Amino acid sequence: MKEIKIEECPYCGAKDFTTGHQYAQGCVYPELWGLRLGSPIEHTICKECGSIVHSRVIKLEKFK
Ligand SMILES: [Zn+2]
Repeated sequence: MKEIKIEECPYCGAKDFTTGHQYAQGCVYPELWGLRLGSPIEHTICKECGSIVHSRVIKLEKFK
């Protein structure tokens, strides 16, 4: 998987980020139905304004 670099927050211009992970009921599912098909989501969150500046599914292969 490609590494995505985020230089600064597009909303407030801050350069300090943290990552958060979203599991369970917050999982995003591909169109194929099935309990085991979901993937946790990783969010990159701006520490200054709290905006989620980037989100991705961790188990990308489930969507391919
Ligand atoms: Zn921000």
